[in-house]
Formats: sequence, structure tokens, C-alpha cells
Amino acid sequence: MTDDLRVTFLGTGTSQGIPVIGSTHPVCLSDNPKDKRLRVSVLLSWKDYNYVIDCGPDFRQQMLRQKMSHLNGILYTHEHSDHTAGLDDIRPFFFKQGDIPIYAHKRVVKSLKKRFGYILNEKDKYPGAPSVHINKVKNNLPFLIGDKEVTPVNVLHNKLQVFGYRIGDFTYLTDVKTIKEKELEKIKGSKVVVVNALRLDPHLSHFNLKEALAFIEKVKPEKAYFTHISHLLGFHDEVEKSLPKNVHLAYDNLTITL
Ligand SMILES: [Zn+2]
Repeated sequence: MTDDLRVTFLGTGTSQGIPVIGSTHPVCLSDNPKDKRLRVSVLLSWKDYNYVIDCGPDFRQQMLRQKMSHLNGILYTHEHSDHTAGLDDIRPFFFKQGDIPIYAHKRVVKSLKKRFGYILNEKDKYPGAPSVHINKVKNNLPFLIGDKEVTPVNVLHNKLQVFGYRIGDFTYLTDVKTIKEKELEKIKGSKVVVVNALRLDPHLSHFNLKEALAFIEKVKPEKAYFTHISHLLGFHDEVEKSLPKNVHLAYDNLTITL
């Protein structure tokens, strides 16, 4: 058991994942396991603690793949389905452990209450439905997960507020299009930064590759990993070769230790 933070990429794909259903795009047809991307999520592990950031539609498959036997909580970045749709599959953890802690902006909690009322609402609980313990996250208000402090970082996904999270020397950001200078200061000094890089062409609500590289140039971490990747970014191995030495494309099942 070590205090070192291990970060495992459970999924590195954009909202449809790669391959896209029915697609004949060469990247979707690639045999390289690094070109197969489940919906975006990371597992944070240290000592006996296991937390995930986001819980998308591939959550069950990701938990099976990691042979996860317990989960201490879920941190949400925002309410979009590719980050939240797997919540029902906390059931095996709930049956063993009881209420599963979730950490989210109050707007995200409201959205989850609407879509997963049988999980989040107290009244008329369906027998067998899981329950969560709600922790509301506010910007500029660090909080604890296990014995580690988390600093929320406010970013914008077009006009939607999204939380990134900094834990010690590690910062995880997804679905970013813009970020204010004041929030950038929270990220500076991180050794490892993960950020989204959707594709080559510009997009309304996501960094493309060029914008993600410019962002890394500003923040200057020792190492950076790109995630939330569309098939339109290209083949993993080819894009990886084109990147600066300290910048990498993340891929599913990659683990880094801080
Ligand atoms: Zn997303």
C-alpha cells in the first residue's frame, strides 16, 4: 500500500466512444488496442482508496476490466450523459458498502435527481435501488477524498460550467473549451496534467489538438496526456509521434504513478 497516486485511464474516448457504432472510418476499424476508446473516465487509487472521475455508459465494463471490488466515491465533472449515464451500475458496490459518496456541482446533482430519481431521491425507494451520499462541490472550496485534498477548477464547455480537479501534483480536465486566467493559476505547478483534445478541426465546446497543445504550453507541466478523443483525431500511433516529447495521447488502461 502506497501513498503514491495511481491514475488509470478507464476511458479516453469522446461521447460516442471509438469505434463509433456502424462507422467504417479507418480509425474505427483499426486493430490497435490503443485506438479503442471507451467513454472518458479515470480511476484514482492510493493506499486502499479508489475514486473515479465520472461514471459514463461504459462504467460497468470499466469496473470489470479493473477487477474493482470497492469504490470510495465518484467525482463528477458535469452532467452530460457520456460522463454520468453509468450511475445505475454502482449497485454491486452499494450492496457491499452502503451509500456511495458522489461529489458534484449543485446543478449536476439537480440533473442527476431528474434522471436517476430512484437513486438520488429519498422518498419511495424502489427495493434494490442503490443510494448515494451527495457532496456538493463549490468552486474555490477544496474538499477531501480519503486523506487527499481536491481543488476544483472551473472551466467552460462552450457555455456550460464544468469542474476539473487537482489532487496534489495531478490535474484532470475534460470537456474544456475556455478557462479563465484565475483558474489557470490553480493548475500551474502540476507535474501531470490531463486535458481533452477532441480532433484536428475546431469544435464549439472542446479543445482541438492545436488548442490543447497551446494550453499545455501555457501551463507547462512536466508531462501532459490528452483524452476525450474522437476518431477524427487520427490513429493513436501517428498522432503520438507528432507530439512534443512531454505530451502523450492517453489510451484505455494506461496507468501513471505520481
Ligand atoms: Zn464529454
